[in-house]
Amino acid sequence: MSEQTHSFQAEVSRLLEIVAGALYSNSEIFLRELISNASDACDRLRYLALTEPGLTAEDPDFAIALTADKEAGTLVIEDNGLGMSRDELVENLGTIARSGTAAFLKRLEDKSADVTQIGQFGVGFYSAFMVADEVTVDTRRAGEAAAWRWRSDGKGDFTVGESEDAPARGTRIALKLKADQSEYLEPERLRRIVKTYSDHVAVPIRLTGEAENLNTASALWRRPKAEVTDEQYKEFYHHVAHAFDEPWLRAHFKAEGVVEYTGLLFIPSQPPFDLFQPERKHGVKLYVKRVFITDDCAELIPAYLRFLKGVVDSEDLPLNISREMLQNNPLLAKIRGAIVKRVLAELKKRAEADAEDYARFWNAFGAVLKEGLYEDLGRRDELLPLLRVHSTGREGLSSLDDYLSRMKEGQDAIYFITGEDREALARSPQLEGFLSRGVEVLLLTDPVDEFWVPSLQSYKDKPFRSVTQGALDLDKVAGGEDKPAEEREETPEAPGLDAMIAFLRLTLKEQVKDVRASERLTESPVCLVADEGDMDMHLERLLRQHQQISQSFKRILEVNPRHPLIRALSARVTANGAAAELEEVGQLLLDQALIMEGESLPDPAAFSHRLSAAVARGLIGDTVAGDKGSGDQGGGDQEAQGEGSEPDAPTSEA
Ligand code: ADP
Repeated sequence: MSEQTHSFQAEVSRLLEIVAGALYSNSEIFLRELISNASDACDRLRYLALTEPGLTAEDPDFAIALTADKEAGTLVIEDNGLGMSRDELVENLGTIARSGTAAFLKRLEDKSADVTQIGQFGVGFYSAFMVADEVTVDTRRAGEAAAWRWRSDGKGDFTVGESEDAPARGTRIALKLKADQSEYLEPERLRRIVKTYSDHVAVPIRLTGEAENLNTASALWRRPKAEVTDEQYKEFYHHVAHAFDEPWLRAHFKAEGVVEYTGLLFIPSQPPFDLFQPERKHGVKLYVKRVFITDDCAELIPAYLRFLKGVVDSEDLPLNISREMLQNNPLLAKIRGAIVKRVLAELKKRAEADAEDYARFWNAFGAVLKEGLYEDLGRRDELLPLLRVHSTGREGLSSLDDYLSRMKEGQDAIYFITGEDREALARSPQLEGFLSRGVEVLLLTDPVDEFWVPSLQSYKDKPFRSVTQGALDLDKVAGGEDKPAEEREETPEAPGLDAMIAFLRLTLKEQVKDVRASERLTESPVCLVADEGDMDMHLERLLRQHQQISQSFKRILEVNPRHPLIRALSARVTANGAAAELEEVGQLLLDQALIMEGESLPDPAAFSHRLSAAVARGLIGDTVAGDKGSGDQGGGDQEAQGEGSEPDAPTSEA
């Protein structure tokens, strides 16, 4: 087949421009990425050869060779791993954008990642263009006769054709180094880079012409803890996790007994970009007696621990196990159970030892761990003490027990509100009555909160209650410290309230399920709540965004009987009965409640008309108000709280 030219997929092209375009002080990481790919290719072939020994019969020892040619200015990395077919070559190295490409570009652009983190995004190969102006890949897939050559200068396109010069099996990558990158031709420099980044790659790495391996090439997890230094652990973590950070947790253990396995697991301190992407691979590699089996075994680690990185190596699973056989494998289920138990116990230890340190973990991965509360009911008792929440009036995180210990006298529920943004939530009108009584409300902002809370229903016999749903009876709760009960009672409820509510019900009957006086408002005139039994408002919004539902529930409009605007409106309705302009005020009240909910208005133009009309009436129309005679003449009304903020509230100066 003759040589063909392909264009890089658009995002890949942009990525290459950035990678090739600048000078990086850490450009040495390209070698780590290419060695990591080479060792993966060896691991994958070793696994295939378990069932098809012919694939490696002629050359059973895996190795990675580095060759520096000073005269030609090239550095060559060669492996005798699996190699690539023509299609794999075209797809893997250019025409298909991996999910990480766009994510990585975005992070590069907003400076929340730098180029050296490329491996985490699954596009490490392209780091070759940090140091090379031209890259040539010759490859032959194990068991195939044909061999292929890929070549590119990283500027928009690449060519693929037959290769005359590929290894008998595996991949050779030749980098024509940029003029200022000749340091990567120095054996000493290469030796140091391999030692730093790839010492525990389990395939031996050699410099051409030298007999000794550059790396230790041992399975680090098999070594006794006492023999492994912190530095070695960290290097290994960086290798398995493609990470740069300090791991937040390290657990190295050997289980002996009914099931025998070794584990070396890490929890990163930074969340990976794809933590919430469904197609995300698991970060823990499964080995059997030191042979890599798979890095995509959903049975090994439950999804709610998908932030774990590392290796599990079993003694008991059969070496020739196929990936299909891993499903429903009772031995694997035992290993999984034991690992979960161990990890949760480690988390508990850290949580108890240092709250601030645990908060770092929680902020990165708490939203994932919470999934376990409904996915793994058997572990709920272990998971609940690990749960942390934010609540009103408190800095930082609390456990549910902390919350219970701070409950008010007479409070018989755990109150919560869900939404996207903690600060916006804390200002929700529905919280006012709670704040004034000093009752804490949990501020839940992870989408998963919509699932674990209803699934849990209660904690230590205290039911969870949404403050945006159902009727409330806060009277039983002892008054708040910051506002004594007498002060709250000072402003009486609006006279004529019932008539006004009846009027609003009629005016808004197509739009709301009911209108009623509110227990929860102290500052705002109105708010929306979900009826008992109806879907909570934030959940509905979430599901609509994800096209899970299309209908929307009618909500209940609650009015604050002590608010000046509501008092004024009640007085008007009592005096005048229904009137077109009062209906407009009713509509405006609903518009306001929707805006505070973060909902879009069904008819923004109509809202604008109503608002302008109301403001105009407020500015010029006190005469109008006067003409009609305001019923709200409750002389000495000291409603300082709402002063001047409501255009329609008449300033009864009579
Ligand atoms: P990642 O290794 O994270 O998948 P890369 O961009 O480094 O991302 O590599 C893309 C793909 O190209 C790899 O997944 C692999 O399929 C293939 N590949 C890269 N290098 C090699 C190699 N030396 N041998 C075989 N396949 C390789």
